[in-house]
Amino acid sequence: MVNLDRPVRVRFAPSPTGGLHIGGVRTALYNYVFAKKHQGKFLIRIEDTDQTRFVEGAESYIFEALHWLGLNADESSEVGGTFAPYRQSERKAMYRQYAEQLIESGHAYYAFDTAEELDLMRKNLEEAGAKNLSYNALTRVNMTNSLTLTPEETKKRIDAGEHYVIRIKMPKKDDIRFEDIVKGKMNVHSSTLDDKVLMKSDGMPTYHLANVVDDYLMEISHVIRGEEWLPSAPLHVFLYQSFGWADKMPQFAHLPLLLNPDGQGKLSKRKAAEYGFPIFPLDWFEKDKNITIDGFREKGYLPEALNNFLALLGWHTSSDEEVFSLEHLIEVFDMERVGKASVKFEIKKAEWFNQYYIRLKTNEELLQYLKETFVKLNIKNDFSDEKLLKICNLMRDRITFPQDIYLDAKYLFELPTEYDQKGVAKNWQGEGLLFVDFCQNNLPTLKENWEGENIKHNLHDWVEQNGYKMGKVMPALRLAVSGASGGADLGMIMELVGFDNVMERITIAKKTIV
Ligand code: GLU
Repeated sequence: MVNLDRPVRVRFAPSPTGGLHIGGVRTALYNYVFAKKHQGKFLIRIEDTDQTRFVEGAESYIFEALHWLGLNADESSEVGGTFAPYRQSERKAMYRQYAEQLIESGHAYYAFDTAEELDLMRKNLEEAGAKNLSYNALTRVNMTNSLTLTPEETKKRIDAGEHYVIRIKMPKKDDIRFEDIVKGKMNVHSSTLDDKVLMKSDGMPTYHLANVVDDYLMEISHVIRGEEWLPSAPLHVFLYQSFGWADKMPQFAHLPLLLNPDGQGKLSKRKAAEYGFPIFPLDWFEKDKNITIDGFREKGYLPEALNNFLALLGWHTSSDEEVFSLEHLIEVFDMERVGKASVKFEIKKAEWFNQYYIRLKTNEELLQYLKETFVKLNIKNDFSDEKLLKICNLMRDRITFPQDIYLDAKYLFELPTEYDQKGVAKNWQGEGLLFVDFCQNNLPTLKENWEGENIKHNLHDWVEQNGYKMGKVMPALRLAVSGASGGADLGMIMELVGFDNVMERITIAKKTIV
């Protein structure tokens, strides 16, 4: 059950370690929709305490991607808010007191073990045949920490500036229970959990400490995040209990895993590349490798299509309804209908949504896309806007991506340089050729009324009058005019390229195709 006793405040808490994985975008979307549905607040908190993984430009990339999708935060490192700062590196100073509070209350301890000592511990455990090699309630008694040292010795070491970490003290035998909105009742025995580090030797908090402290301080009511964080949840629950914040603990909702389209394994960059679809919302330039990884935006996905597609990766209504604008999603979204089972990332569905949303665009909007494509591909365009609008109208039902208006209708913009070989073999002889000749002689009679419908009517009349077979002769004329065997309405193609150009194309085809 979703608990709505407190004002809804949710957060998306990405670590700026590279391009934002599309699974993270889904998490942001669910958080956003949930917040808006319940008149709550959507926060973006940047979790950048791990300086070794910090990547320049990743934070601004995250904001750019979410703005593109319309998932704008009410509070964030970008727009600020009552609980600022929203970047953990700027909150660094406040975490220590919380770690120390846990030491005071006996829920955490100092550990002085060196890397060599930790290695030795694992080696000894391994040799003794132990499966669990972690620092935990059983092994900590043999290590160098404030539980095994006297208080005087501990203080002496700290005063001497010795390196130490602060670890959580997991109880030996305890049940950690919580109820996840998606996964249901969870019960984890503390003996399966280790004494995770809360504060590193460089004085930085780990993810666990900073995440829980900030969720508490920022009055987060629901933690909605990917299933990969489920194993961390018992520790987080235990932290809330240890701090004495149990009554302020947010409700958890762990979203189902996203799988590769073949259902094999977690959705990965490698598999996405293999299937040829993006895994990042926007193009992402990987500096160290000097490569750009494709983004959904640059591939031509519309934000409304991507949102709609992502919304259904783990959630559905009780009806078969599939089309959701962001506004509609906010109306009908129900966290309790998020499924437990992992979901395949079926990119075909994303393409389908893109086609759908493209069809909702006006010709004027499509014209803007077409002009952007000209600029991007450096295409010289001689057509008037009036003609371009007709092209948009002609192509609108045939395309998946905005750039296809141009790419799928290249023959409108340039003379064919090649001819579909299968079509040539099948249709460029006999009747087909006779009809092309016929057209060459008779098209001039239509010059004064060079309009798609009129051309089409006349072509049909000519076919009938001469007793030609439609399916044989039209493909031949289409080949001559466009070089292709299929495509948009032939009458419209002929109208758009113009009378002179059609005549030129027929002449060229007759010379070129052998
Ligand atoms: N910083 C974590 C991440 O990168 C946040 C996980 C959470 O939402 O608690 O996904």
